Amino acid sequence: MRQLFTLVLEPEVALDDTALRQFLLKQSSLPDTTEKVYIQKLRQSIDARNRQVKVNLEVELYIGEKPLPVMEFQKNYPNVSKNKQAIVVGAGPAGLFAALRLIELGIKPIILERGKDVQARRRDLSAINKDHLVNPDSNYCFGEGGAGTYSDGKLYTRSKKRGDVRRILEILVAHGATSQILVDVHPHIGTNKLPKVVADLRESILNAGGEILFNTKVTDLTIVNNQIKGVDTHDGQHFEGIAVILATGHSARDIFELLFKKNILIEAKPFAMGVRIEHPQSLIDQHQYHRPERGILPAAAYSLVAQTNYKNVQRGVFSFCMCPGGFIVPAATDEGELVVNGMSPNRRDSKYANSGIVVAINEADWQKNKKLGALAGLELQKEVEQKAFQFAVKSRQFAKINQEKNLLEDTPIQHCQLAPAQRLVDFLNGKISSSLNSTSYQPGLSSLDMAEVLPDIIARPLQDGFKQFGKMIKGYVTNEAQLIGIESRTSSPVRIPRDKETLEHLQIKGLFPCGEGAGFAGGIVSAAMDGERCAEQLAKLYGA
Ligand SMILES: Cc1cc2nc3c(=O)[nH]c(=O)nc-3n(C[C@H](O)[C@H](O)[C@H](O)COP(=O)(O)OP(=O)(O)OC[C@H]3O[C@@H](n4cnc5c(N)ncnc54)[C@H](O)[C@@H]3O)c2cc1C
Repeated sequence: MRQLFTLVLEPEVALDDTALRQFLLKQSSLPDTTEKVYIQKLRQSIDARNRQVKVNLEVELYIGEKPLPVMEFQKNYPNVSKNKQAIVVGAGPAGLFAALRLIELGIKPIILERGKDVQARRRDLSAINKDHLVNPDSNYCFGEGGAGTYSDGKLYTRSKKRGDVRRILEILVAHGATSQILVDVHPHIGTNKLPKVVADLRESILNAGGEILFNTKVTDLTIVNNQIKGVDTHDGQHFEGIAVILATGHSARDIFELLFKKNILIEAKPFAMGVRIEHPQSLIDQHQYHRPERGILPAAAYSLVAQTNYKNVQRGVFSFCMCPGGFIVPAATDEGELVVNGMSPNRRDSKYANSGIVVAINEADWQKNKKLGALAGLELQKEVEQKAFQFAVKSRQFAKINQEKNLLEDTPIQHCQLAPAQRLVDFLNGKISSSLNSTSYQPGLSSLDMAEVLPDIIARPLQDGFKQFGKMIKGYVTNEAQLIGIESRTSSPVRIPRDKETLEHLQIKGLFPCGEGAGFAGGIVSAAMDGERCAEQLAKLYGA
């Protein structure tokens, strides 16, 4: 017997397996003692808009028979070791999913990745957090799995292509991600689970005869008569293939500079910058769930948008990559700069809620750099990150340091990853915080006035935005919350333009700008989808 239910239930029933089993059996007029009961959730979302939080559930009850398979995708990659080869630069979600799709289409991918494999990468992350050492090739943005590996692993996307989104999620499940991501409306994997999934994706590529070279940074492109022939790497190697997928992410500044230097068309594009805000998770839970304790419910998230006006310029201020029960991490990719981002473990059980709160930045803002052409926005991004770093370095004798080690004595100045911080009410009142709250940001904080650290075009709209957010979430504006800066790598400040149909670069045949760095994705799932699309076009044009 198989029965489908579409239900709106109390969280204590919907999210508790035993209670749900009892409820469904009762609905079917069956006794609690019924044997061979299988429950398969198909869709689950939490609706916290009203005082009484509800869970919307689509669920199947099977009695005496095993549930039908929910996955269409089956891992069955052909061996392509002897086939034509294509180069994929970057092993982020775009590069990895491009490689897997190339394999399905009978092409051998050679992935060149500047960073290390997921396991080795951990040591460099530990060095940033504990010793403030930023390895420019292995960090929170660079290395196997790309920027998405040590992240929250939020997998929702604004893409409307449901079929494609489902396919990406199924491929992740086939490589070890929990099948719950096929059920949750807002799925996430968690930073503690992602590395294993990434390692499994690597295994599929290698088992099918693809190649992956770590510690291999692409430093030049070989182009003859506007057709890409291959790439050179930092260690003097040269690789050739039928085409090149360039999936180097939003932080590969050297790649943007290379393209610019070679007169390959790139464009400056709008992006966003601001800060991360960290609240006690319990405060967010209380407001979002209208109850003193969240109980069985997961750590609550929020999504906020405000319109602001500073010096007659309208600007959107919005929350970005909110990480319930998460951590703030140092996401710089070079010495002398300060960048933060957020991540959460699978259980989202830290006592902090953090979110980027960012301000839209557009062409008018980088006019002073306009002689830099397509790199003008990137330069502005760099300036803000470097200024934040300089401020933090200067103030480090006042720093609140989250670890026993004495930074002043032990750490060379260029390695300082203390983040500027200010309590939220103090920021609104223009007052440097006399003390800071405890934080999840491991390298430590420097108490500073964010309005001095950030340019006015960011600081003033942020102040306005936070005031508006205080009206949307009760208790949001409090000194229990603090700003931690700065959040600057929200999306790429550069676009690498490509043909809408063929996805090839507008000038260079065989070059497929791909993923977030090219400006065609924002987030893990959309980058993965873009990787697949580029592989399909590559196969269509060059595979035969
Ligand atoms: C801390 C953090 C948390 C995040 N959390 C989430 C989240 O929860 N959900 C979500 O959807 N998104 C999240 N993001 C964003 C997400 O990770 C990116 O949108 C996504 O990874 C973009 O994929 P990509 O493949 O286009 O680029 P990337 O993931 O940036 O991958 C690019 C790869 O190219 C490599 N590379 C760069 N230059 C070269 C070169 N010259 N030669 C060889 N290799 C090179 C890099 O090392 C990197 O591995 C987060 C990002 C960070 C930093």
